[in-house]
Amino acid sequence: MTILPSMKHTSPVALVTGANKGIGQEIARVLATRGFTVLVGARNLARGEAAARDMPGDARALQLDVTQADSIASAAARVRDELGRLDVLVNNAGIARASNDGTPSTIDDIQRESAPSRAPLSLVRAVFETNVFGVIAVTQAMLPLLREAPAARIVNVSSGLGSLTRISAPEFAHRRVGGVTYAPSKTALNAVTVAFAQELEGTRIKVNAVCPGYTATDLNNHSGTRSVAEAARRPVELALLGPDGPTGSLSNDEGPVPW
Ligand code: NAP
Repeated sequence: MTILPSMKHTSPVALVTGANKGIGQEIARVLATRGFTVLVGARNLARGEAAARDMPGDARALQLDVTQADSIASAAARVRDELGRLDVLVNNAGIARASNDGTPSTIDDIQRESAPSRAPLSLVRAVFETNVFGVIAVTQAMLPLLREAPAARIVNVSSGLGSLTRISAPEFAHRRVGGVTYAPSKTALNAVTVAFAQELEGTRIKVNAVCPGYTATDLNNHSGTRSVAEAARRPVELALLGPDGPTGSLSNDEGPVPW
């Protein structure tokens, strides 16, 4: 069914990728409390449905594997056909290891596997496929809908490990964790953020990257020191930015983060 302009969904719509758990789930939950119809992106639909069921307001699971072109195309078609609008895209899905089986990772595992001298190229490619190419592909697919929104916001969930300034500082304890896989994927994501922001200058769309901080999730076997509630705070602020807010920026909840 093609939606006519008058049939567009009346509430603003937000899509959060990788929202079935961790930081993405919390970002989706908070946006649902702020009046958004939230699309809980999940590569495994059953996990997305379980997460959406626990959310307040209007939260709907959306099958979306950010590494699969057909999944991305189907998701974009479903958003257009079912809702006819998209106001916020949070590119949150991310991996630090190649495992797809839900096995928790410690940061020691990540550091060992991403060692510059030994990391298999297959792992480097897999991490970039999700954390960088997935973001480009999902953003491209959703842009036509975002361009139609009155004030669309794109939020890319990056990491302090993507900041070259941070990881080249000897006093930063975790500077070696991301090696040649996770860390450079987030540095590339920062560059991708700036590139989209520049192309979209003069439009109603703002594009920003955010560091959620070291957060207790499966990504690090819950060794992170921040809660998902703390981690979601700045991503939500960027999703709700007013017209005077920045574009092409990198920040955390304390302020700007150096590139
Ligand atoms: P998490 O608990 O492991 O959640 C990651 C989410 O991404 C899961 O929903 C996962 O789905 C999803 N995902 C992975 N590959 C995907 C794919 N190909 N398509 C769609 N979804 C996919 O990790 P998290 O800590 O919440 O991480 C969320 C974001 O924050 C990531 O971008 C991460 O790099 C970033 N970050 C985290 C920390 C931290 O300390 N935790 C710090 C800085 C930045 P499955 O359940 O199917 O695996």
